[in-house]
Amino acid sequence: MKAPLTTSGPGLPLDFARRLIDWQRCHGRSALPWQHTHDPYRVWLSEVMLQQTQVSTVLHYYPRFLARFPDVQRLAAATPDEVMALWSGLGYYSRARNLHRCAQVVVQEHGGVFPARAELLQALPGIGASTAAAIAAFCHGERVSIADGNVRRVLARLLAFDGDLARPASQRALWDLAQALLPEQPTHADMTAHTQGLMDLGATVCTRTRPQCERCPVAGLCQARASGTIDRFPVKSRTLKRRHESWWLLLLQHRDAHGVTRWWLQRRPAPGIWAGLFCPPVFESETALRAGLPPALVDRLAPQAAVAHSLTHRELRLHPCVLACDGPGTPELAAWSDPAGQWVDAAALAEHGLPAPVRLLLAPPDA
Ligand code: SF4
Repeated sequence: MKAPLTTSGPGLPLDFARRLIDWQRCHGRSALPWQHTHDPYRVWLSEVMLQQTQVSTVLHYYPRFLARFPDVQRLAAATPDEVMALWSGLGYYSRARNLHRCAQVVVQEHGGVFPARAELLQALPGIGASTAAAIAAFCHGERVSIADGNVRRVLARLLAFDGDLARPASQRALWDLAQALLPEQPTHADMTAHTQGLMDLGATVCTRTRPQCERCPVAGLCQARASGTIDRFPVKSRTLKRRHESWWLLLLQHRDAHGVTRWWLQRRPAPGIWAGLFCPPVFESETALRAGLPPALVDRLAPQAAVAHSLTHRELRLHPCVLACDGPGTPELAAWSDPAGQWVDAAALAEHGLPAPVRLLLAPPDA
């Protein structure tokens, strides 16, 4: 019979936390713009941006967002469109909607002050248990462990944890083990280094493919390494299946006598993909797109090269079709009826929330 998993005993001495903290202080990341602050607003913003998103990408968005919304009051007072415009391109747009709602709840129900404890933070919109733990540990030194996907991978290997992490019960069990690995009676600085150390280890050493065990501060404690079974962990039975879909986008363009270019954009319906963002009209086939146009315009349709775009559950193939027209109020658009849309000046696209591939189609960086 297999021995129960433990975070103590000969397999895993209790000095895990000390090794991790010492390593973080000497070798961990220390120059990220959201470090060295105890401001829950800044930590919360970084944690939400970093969910499913590379640090290198967040480094572009984080300072811009903070410059526009330097505190929770300013964010709460913004319009949804202002928030979406700044989030545009980061993806996973429900994060931005929840961020905005959460700011409003903090202002309206908590006097503009984030609750201090992780269990209270979790009650706020869009703050899950791991994000709550990160805020509480970084800002208040609470003795509570994070357990995002990276950390679960590290701990599953360290402990040779063979529970199926597709199951919530296994995730909870691993989280209990993460709690047991916390330092005893830590200072605030210890909790900061421990939490950051877990993040750094998962992001830079114990990576999904080709972990660099020779650089790992807890290699001597790692059960998967000792048994030569690193590639068996973490165990996750359910693999994400993405559906393939093709979308035809009508890029209806109008350039006036002064050279001002406008695009016809619709707000995407909620719920659904890119809900609340601005997007050209979407059709399920080129036939459907052509059928929706006034006959006088069909011959002017100029299909462009298709673009691939991955979402969490979909692989989209986008087929942009440009159509230059004489503009609003002209006879050629007399038969055009689209109450869901509006003309948007090309110069004003930056102020609108657009999905990243749409922004690239309408405003390529080298244009
Ligand atoms: Fe990950 Fe290797 Fe460190 Fe084990 S020894 S925790 S597999 S990097």
